[in-house]
Amino acid sequence: MKRTFLKTLAASAVVLALTPVAHAQDKGMVGISMPTKSSARWIDDGNNMVKVLKERGYKTDLQYADDDIPNQLAQIENMVTKGAKVLVIASIDGTTLSKALQNAADKGVKVIAYDRLIKGSKNVDYYATFDNFQVGVLQASSIVHALGLKQGKGPFNIELFGGSPDDNNAFFFYDGAMSVLKPYIDSGKLVVRSKQMGMDKVGTLRWDGAVAQARMDNLLSAFYGNAKVDAVLSPYDGLSIGILSSLKGVGYCTKQTPCPIVSGQDAEVQSVKSILRGEQYSSIFKDTRELAKVAANMVDAVVSGKQPEVNDTKTYNNGVKVVPSYLLKPVTVDKTNWEATLVGSGYYKASQIK
Ligand code: BGC
Repeated sequence: MKRTFLKTLAASAVVLALTPVAHAQDKGMVGISMPTKSSARWIDDGNNMVKVLKERGYKTDLQYADDDIPNQLAQIENMVTKGAKVLVIASIDGTTLSKALQNAADKGVKVIAYDRLIKGSKNVDYYATFDNFQVGVLQASSIVHALGLKQGKGPFNIELFGGSPDDNNAFFFYDGAMSVLKPYIDSGKLVVRSKQMGMDKVGTLRWDGAVAQARMDNLLSAFYGNAKVDAVLSPYDGLSIGILSSLKGVGYCTKQTPCPIVSGQDAEVQSVKSILRGEQYSSIFKDTRELAKVAANMVDAVVSGKQPEVNDTKTYNNGVKVVPSYLLKPVTVDKTNWEATLVGSGYYKASQIK
């Protein structure tokens, strides 16, 4: 009895040894190209992608391009040379990758645009992102709510900031926000004293907080000598921090002169802390764990020759084609719901914030 068992055991050990174990590298390599480490969200995005793809049996090559376009190009070319089957790319400038992507397509490499649309190329297979227009709607709605505009309060002074003009998302955020703010501007309940409106005037190259801070300094000295700014539309937490430093520099954010209502995006730790201090008013939470899952589902599908799940086939025209997309839902976070939203979901630990 014992012998038979041992024999069976030995036999199955042989079988096991002969059976190829599903090693991570079996499914091939995925290149993940991220724009920058200067913002925590992209670090989380990269780590989440690696985690999810590894769990699913892929090897990964994660690279950050330091917000430098030639750098990103070189990294992508290198991924293709190393034999990547799929590229997942969050571009710095959505228009600069066409040649590298043609080269990738010639080798049969599939491309998924991650969070930011890649423009001007037919070689973009799918797009995983959030509802970017809705991000802007939420940012502006939070300002409208805080000012009590729906209750007829006002007029209030507001200044507008946009994201980087080489990032397609920046236009969606701005347009979404303006779809909410414009009626109040038209009726005079919101006043843009600088008259600086439109992405050509309010854009912030490379989402640089220092650039936003300098622009806010100029706005305050040129247009707010004896007036108060009541709200600032900021599309991203890194800009909000710069804007708030500028405001503090001229005496805002005190008991007598509270901070204006400042929006944001990404729910980065520094900004959630700022919200708790009563400085930044709100941010937009985009769960990068969910985005990583959506992108990984797309990777799995294209590798096995299947159609990934998409929920939008109209919105994201990249100039050459409409890229089939999956849009996740953004969520506003402010003082009232940050804990349930960010800690409750396990995105942050309470100790990171408090
Ligand atoms: C992303 C935002 C981010 C911004 C700056 C955009 O493309 O969608 O989440 O705040 O880039 O990094």
